[in-house]
Amino acid sequence: MRSLPVLPQLPDGRLEQGFHESKPAYNEAEAVTEANRCLYCVDAPCVKSCPTGIDIPNFIRKIATGNVKGAARTILAENILGYSCARVCPVEVLCAGGCVYNAWGRQPIAIGRLQRFATETTLSDGGLRKLYASKIKPRTGKRVALVGAGPASLAAAALLAMEGHESVIFERKRYAGGLNTLGIAPYKLKANDAMKEIAWIFELGAIELREGVEVVSGEAGEGQVSSAALLREFDAVFLGLGLGPDSKLHAKNEDGPGVYGAVDLIEKIKSDPALSLAGVTHALVIGGGNTAIDIAHELALLNVGDVAMVYRRGRDGMSAYAHEIEYGMKHGVRVLTDRVLTEVVRDGASKVTHAKLARAEGGKAVAGTEETVACQLIAMAIGQSRATDVAKAFDGVALDAQGRVVVDPGTHRTGNAKVWAGGDCVNGGTEVVNAAQEAKLAVRDMLRALAG
Ligand SMILES: Cc1cc2nc3c(=O)[nH]c(=O)nc-3n(C[C@H](O)[C@H](O)[C@H](O)COP(=O)(O)OP(=O)(O)OC[C@H]3O[C@@H](n4cnc5c(N)ncnc54)[C@H](O)[C@@H]3O)c2cc1C
Ligand code: SF4
Repeated sequence: MRSLPVLPQLPDGRLEQGFHESKPAYNEAEAVTEANRCLYCVDAPCVKSCPTGIDIPNFIRKIATGNVKGAARTILAENILGYSCARVCPVEVLCAGGCVYNAWGRQPIAIGRLQRFATETTLSDGGLRKLYASKIKPRTGKRVALVGAGPASLAAAALLAMEGHESVIFERKRYAGGLNTLGIAPYKLKANDAMKEIAWIFELGAIELREGVEVVSGEAGEGQVSSAALLREFDAVFLGLGLGPDSKLHAKNEDGPGVYGAVDLIEKIKSDPALSLAGVTHALVIGGGNTAIDIAHELALLNVGDVAMVYRRGRDGMSAYAHEIEYGMKHGVRVLTDRVLTEVVRDGASKVTHAKLARAEGGKAVAGTEETVACQLIAMAIGQSRATDVAKAFDGVALDAQGRVVVDPGTHRTGNAKVWAGGDCVNGGTEVVNAAQEAKLAVRDMLRALAG
């Protein structure tokens, strides 16, 4: 089996490289000082707010007493993606949001930054392989196929490797990591840092990546493998498909250069040196969710002079986290509520020059209220379609009315006894930490099945 000493490197010249970290790493003195503020609460509310149930007071106490490796072990025992989650988790609404200090109007403990300190310090010295050297079990000869190389599959592969099971990950894109590599705002985690975590996982051994290979429902062509082949050739299958491409609004003249799907544009910012924003002074972002505020904030930080988020209802209806909206606004993002994009105005068939926005009532455009605003770029952040059609090709796997893969919530096993699923394709799109937790539950059940 080809394990992976070198992952494909992202090229230089990407816009992402110019971003600065919003929460830089703590040094040891800063970490110990912050750890010493923790009250080590019994029945700690921060633990209850962590989807993976990390024993937070325990790892913080270990940092305070100089046992940094022990702290990393405590974190990784519950969340094998503890390094990237430390940087990308919306801690304000999860662990730190639950911290008792909030109730007294004081700064909550910076749990994410402490978690980063413990995991980064430890894993930078030999990765997961060194940390778990004595715990990695001998090979069992059992093989698991994982579809998609996002956080869900990577977490599952790491846990399987420690139990001696071999994994083959099929990823249709060139780079592994799913949205952790290609979607997270660069001021939280850059693609090359996400790649570091992936390398630590691959160094556990017994994991093969087949990048540029899509799993399909029918007969497989070039660069494809069929669901039937996976069922035939592997002892178990894990579906970590994530979500599909950006949805379209179908406004007049929407199709053409200058109008991007938000997730697609973020991917270009992070991975494509050919993307240039030269000449873009005004940009509109359509949508009110977390992807919308992320791309708006990124464009503002990339020196696009005027970036406006356009949302069809009032501010209360926006699903983006309040702390992210505030942070984006601090860097110049404007929020235009109760407006709908009705038309993209182009110079001939190509360049975007303006957009027509109508006033909205109940989320719908009111006729005769259109105004024309200048812009050279529009990002559509109104949701993503599903990528789950392929799941139906695995006998017994069902989708719900929203196109999510149906699983048993305790085991993440699907209706096919050999197939498990987790992450965005099951939960409809939440956070990296949920993908890690769902993979953990799936692997626990898979281990029982593989042993039996
Ligand atoms: C713009 C954006 C910003 C985000 N920011 C944050 C954040 O700050 N913090 C946070 O915690 N979460 C964030 N999220 C959410 C988080 O990224 C996801 O919840 C997480 O990545 C889900 O992991 P996953 O493995 O389920 O899916 P994904 O990360 O989407 O990975 C799925 C992988 O499967 C591949 N794939 C799909 N179908 C096939 C097929 N048929 N064959 C082969 N490969 C296939 C895809 O190419 C992809 O690489 C963000 C999401 C977006 C869109
Ligand atoms: S709630 Fe806050 S103070 Fe209490 S254990 Fe958790 S992080 Fe420490």
